[in-house]
Amino acid sequence: MDKLENEKRLLEEMIKLYCKKKHGTEENLCPDCKELMEYAFYRLSKCPFGNNKKSCASCNIKCYDKEHKDRIKEVMKFSGWRIFFRHPIMTLRHF
Ligand SMILES: [Zn+2]
Repeated sequence: MDKLENEKRLLEEMIKLYCKKKHGTEENLCPDCKELMEYAFYRLSKCPFGNNKKSCASCNIKCYDKEHKDRIKEVMKFSGWRIFFRHPIMTLRHF
């Protein structure tokens, strides 16, 4: 699997977990989180480094606008370590 795909999956998992715990959603994301995920995917697809970029947390945050940056930070803070314990190998390659 390529890096971008992997990163998307990671983002998706983090946002899903965040939404489930914080907003009480089950299968589907609430509209706010859905919008955030779409924004994150869009930024990722526009990343100038593409598959050569080094790390997601430090890199892709920089091209977010202020509002989304704050929101994704919140998600990463909340879900980051939880995902880490669930998928140690997947995240180790990233962080
Ligand atoms: Zn939500």
